[in-house]
Amino acid sequence: MSMFKDIPVDVGVIYEGERIRRNDMQVELGGPDVKEKFELARVKEPEEVEDGKITILGPDLKDMDIGKSYPFGILVEVAGAKLEPELEGVIERRIHAYCNYIEGFMHLNQRYDIWLRLGKKSFQKGLNSFQYIGTVLQRLFKSELPIIEKMQVTFITDPKKVKEQYGEALQIYEARDVKARGLKDEEVDKFYGCVLCQSFAPTHVCVITPQRYSNCGAISWFDGRAAAGIDPKGPVFTIERGEQLDSVKGEYSGVNEVVKKKSLGEITKVCLYTAFGSPHTSCGCFEGVAFYIPEVDGFGIVHRGYKDVTVNGLPFSTLADSTAGGRQVDGFHGVSIEYMRSPKFLQADGGWNRVVWLPKEVKERVKNFIPAELVNKIATEENAKTIDELKVFLKDQDHPIVAKWKAEPEPVEETTPKEVRDEAQTIPVITASTLPMTAGGFKIILKDAKIYAKRVIIRSMKDEKTEKR
Ligand code: SF4
Repeated sequence: MSMFKDIPVDVGVIYEGERIRRNDMQVELGGPDVKEKFELARVKEPEEVEDGKITILGPDLKDMDIGKSYPFGILVEVAGAKLEPELEGVIERRIHAYCNYIEGFMHLNQRYDIWLRLGKKSFQKGLNSFQYIGTVLQRLFKSELPIIEKMQVTFITDPKKVKEQYGEALQIYEARDVKARGLKDEEVDKFYGCVLCQSFAPTHVCVITPQRYSNCGAISWFDGRAAAGIDPKGPVFTIERGEQLDSVKGEYSGVNEVVKKKSLGEITKVCLYTAFGSPHTSCGCFEGVAFYIPEVDGFGIVHRGYKDVTVNGLPFSTLADSTAGGRQVDGFHGVSIEYMRSPKFLQADGGWNRVVWLPKEVKERVKNFIPAELVNKIATEENAKTIDELKVFLKDQDHPIVAKWKAEPEPVEETTPKEVRDEAQTIPVITASTLPMTAGGFKIILKDAKIYAKRVIIRSMKDEKTEKR
């Protein structure tokens, strides 16, 4: 039975994490096929908000074509005596959680990256209007955050209106991010933590500092402070920073203690500014992935919206699978775009000096924060589509990583006898995003496998059958 009798589908935490495949979807709102999409929360004066009002600008769910993707905006406007504009980021992030409580309604990502799907089954049960979604949002927001006294929700599907408001939303996000820049981690004694994503990644804890924005890019240190202030027992909480144990890697005693507690003992040490050793965990909401490319000893970065394969032949989705789940995976690191603008960005690994490839779109967005002498030395998809092309580009541009190749020659060249070296150089390498094998009646799939073999024998099945006969 539904949590709300007047809503045609069930609503509850159990639906968080539910995925809706393309074949099962009634409609898609936002997502990778649509350029303009956003969600925005605004704190308003009481007289500007009509409590309970739900507005739909453009076609409603029942008027949309089955299987199509639509531009989409959600605007949540709230008022309350104790509400401050600093809470906007945190209120906005809850849209994700509350939409996911609705049976057959999926919400991914945040801000300008939102991706929602309504499942056919829920549509057939009667979930055919944004009125229902708005009602659920109103009730959940007001029951979980009682400082919201008045709330109105607007759903925008008219492409012209989405486009207009999208531009404004981008400016508002930027203004929030600018505010959080400038403050240093060493200057504060409190950080903030967030476990909103534990429903998807049970051991994940975001540690939000002035110089390490949350993985989703939606919660700054200021947002964290505001959220922990109004709801200290909620998913966003204070972390007493404690002693600085390593200033380069970003290890703090208070962070270790809290993360250990909040991950139920699973994660005992976190270094905030590195992708190796004990890196910050990655949930699944990260805006991008920094992935280590051993062939050049550098990092590639790819953002969620990048549709092509990256320079190592893998798409964002495969790299994200290797990164997500609340784990600490060496060389696979979930990041937000705003963290790339931080002076602490992968500080212990060499920062921008170690970055060798990223999509042009991301480069444009963070260009002013990359040291000027490096901007043209970091490849994009226009400069390199394969590792071999990347090596040539980095050498031509004299990227700092090239000096490292010379300074630290590969051990195989220095210490291995020539005959072994020759053999090593001819060892074939198979790289595959998924590699199915069959053995003893079972199908084994190796994901992101790299297999080194002395010899590879490829024999056609036809030949085998002929041989057996
Ligand atoms: S990515 Fe981090 S900050 Fe963002 S909602 Fe998830 S746990 Fe919270």
